[in-house]
Amino acid sequence: MEPNNIRDGEGYWWHRGVESPGCVHAHSRVRSSGMLLWYAGVACWNKVDGRSSDAIGYEDNSSARSRCGYQSCAPSDPNALNVHLVPHSHDDVGWLKTVDQYYWGAETYIQRAGVQYILDSVVTALHENPDRRFIQVETAFFHKWWKEQSENRKELVRELVNSGRLEIINGAWSMNDEAAVHYQSIIDQFTLGLRTINDTLGECGRPKIGWQIDPFGHSREMASIFSQMGYDGLFFSRLDWREKNTRLFSNTPEMLWQGSPNLGDNSNLFTSILYNHYSAPSGYCFDILCTDAPIIDDVDSPEYNYQEKIEGFASFIRRQAQYYVTNNIIITMGDDFN
Ligand SMILES: [Zn+2]
Repeated sequence: MEPNNIRDGEGYWWHRGVESPGCVHAHSRVRSSGMLLWYAGVACWNKVDGRSSDAIGYEDNSSARSRCGYQSCAPSDPNALNVHLVPHSHDDVGWLKTVDQYYWGAETYIQRAGVQYILDSVVTALHENPDRRFIQVETAFFHKWWKEQSENRKELVRELVNSGRLEIINGAWSMNDEAAVHYQSIIDQFTLGLRTINDTLGECGRPKIGWQIDPFGHSREMASIFSQMGYDGLFFSRLDWREKNTRLFSNTPEMLWQGSPNLGDNSNLFTSILYNHYSAPSGYCFDILCTDAPIIDDVDSPEYNYQEKIEGFASFIRRQAQYYVTNNIIITMGDDFN
C-alpha cells in the first residue's frame, strides 16, 4: 500500500491526490476481459510546496481546488467497457420515520437508519483514502449534519468537494415527488437546497446531475426544470416494468428527453434509467444493514470466495452492459440508508 505523502530527492513533499493533466502515476484500474473497472477513480501525486509531512492534509492541498466536477473524473478508455462504480446512500427526507428520527437514528424499531452516522463514516473513509468517491444527494440531511461539525471538519469536507471526491448530486432539499407537486414547490425546494450548498461548499458543490432515483414516476416538466436549472443529465429508476423491459430490449434506457416543445433544444436533458434499481448488485452489499458475505481472499480459508465474487461481479456487468449502447455504464453501490 502506497503512503499518502512522500518526499522527493529535492525535499519537496508530494501528496496523493486526484488526477491532474500532468499526472504520471498509476491509475487504480483493473483490466479484465476488455472491461475497465474504476473502483474509485484515480490516484495521482500533487506537489505540495514548503510543507512538512505533518502539515500536509487534504485541508492544505490547494492544488486540488480547481479540479472538482468533470475534471476530477477518472479518465475513460474509448476501447473498453468503462464501469463506473458510484457509492451513494439513498436517504429519504421523511418516510417511515420523521426527518429528525432519520437524522439522529431514533426509533430504530421502525427502521434502522441514522443519517448522521452515514455522513460521519463517509467523510472519515474519504479522508483515509483519496481513491474513494461518494455522492451526496439530500441537502436537508447534509445541512443538519453540517451545523454540527467543527471548523476543521467543515474545511476537510470543502477540500473533499473541491477535489471531486465528494460530489453533490441533485442537491435539492429533498428528492421531490414529480406527480403531485406544483412546479413552484419544486423550484422552491431546489432553491433552498442549492442556496445552502452554495453558501457552505461554494462553486464546486454545484450539482450537475439530477438524481431522482426513488420518485414513483416522472414528469416531463421535471426534465424541463432540470434543464433550465443548468443540469447536464438525469438518472432515475422507477418506471413501469413494461416500459423498462421495452427500453432494455431495444437498447434505449438512455435518451435525450425533450422537456418542452416551447423551449426546444434548450430543454433537452440527457436521461439514463438505472439498470438495477439503485442497489448494489445482489451479493455485493457490504453495509452493516446487509448480510452479503465479504470478499474473502485468503486462500487458506475454507471461506475463500475471491474468484467466485469476481466472476459474479463481472457477469453482472456483462449482463447490464448488453442493454446500453455506450461503453460507459453506472453501477450503483448503495441503497436505502446504507
Ligand atoms: Zn426513497
